[in-house]
Amino acid sequence: MTVIRAARRMAARSERLRRQGKQLGVVPTMGALHEGHLSLVRAAVKANDVVIVTIFVNPLQFGPHEDFRRYPRNLPRDIRLARRAGADIVFAPSVQEISPTGFGTTIDVGPIGERLEGRFRPGHFRGVATVVAALFHLTKPTHAYFGQKDYQQTLVIKRLVKDLCLDVRLHVLPTVRERDGVAMSSRNRYLRVEQRRQAAVLWRALRAGRERIRTGERRASAVAARMRRLIKAIPSARIDYVVAVDAATLAPVRRLRGCVALLVAVWIGRTRLIDNLLVDVS
Ligand code: AMP
Repeated sequence: MTVIRAARRMAARSERLRRQGKQLGVVPTMGALHEGHLSLVRAAVKANDVVIVTIFVNPLQFGPHEDFRRYPRNLPRDIRLARRAGADIVFAPSVQEISPTGFGTTIDVGPIGERLEGRFRPGHFRGVATVVAALFHLTKPTHAYFGQKDYQQTLVIKRLVKDLCLDVRLHVLPTVRERDGVAMSSRNRYLRVEQRRQAAVLWRALRAGRERIRTGERRASAVAARMRRLIKAIPSARIDYVVAVDAATLAPVRRLRGCVALLVAVWIGRTRLIDNLLVDVS
């Protein structure tokens, strides 16, 4: 496996691979790899000739008071895990390497990036879209892999790919969970033992929401209220949002039909967690 730090070297390598007609799978990550990331790498390995894992803690997608500086970083461990999962290349550029003079150009994907996460983390998806576009430009994937864990992000990337006519097929893979249902996340390590236990309320709330829908509830507000009640029972939990919305647009709806996304963003102490569940309302 090759580790590449330089942007120009990455671009030259992927250019060559594309010219040879290779299927090139790319898995963009911020490192601190866990089973969630590795499930994407394994899926990419199955379907491509060459798999590139990008590791870049993207400063643009963090707000001024967010955890950019303390975000977990361990490149040697990530390289080891990526290699074991079958990756061929780890592309781990420095911030300086990706954007030596800072970003002048940014990509704004419109309303899909402004709802929910976008409202609580202004500029977040502009940061994501801009850097993913740059990473796609350097790695030239035929296929790119993302987790449903960050559901709104997958919609943002879909929009980016469509609007900019990028020649890449997107694959969204299921959320990998711990045994108690907590979605794997690099941020789970911020949680103390008791908080980690409490974090399972997100998954419990999502399942309860789905259960309400399955037993016939069609009012979005009633489903959200049911989820909110469970979360509020945890004293250290503070809700940013808990919603049942249209899964394609994330627009609020009164009555649930078609594909519905249940989405939650909750602080457990000083750690912000997100999770979601898609429900087919037929
Ligand atoms: P991140 O390093 O948090 O930016 O995540 C990199 C990619 O891994 C994104 O596409 C995430 O959606 C995906 N991912 C993160 N956690 C999980 C998980 N628990 N299950 C599946 N995919 C995940």
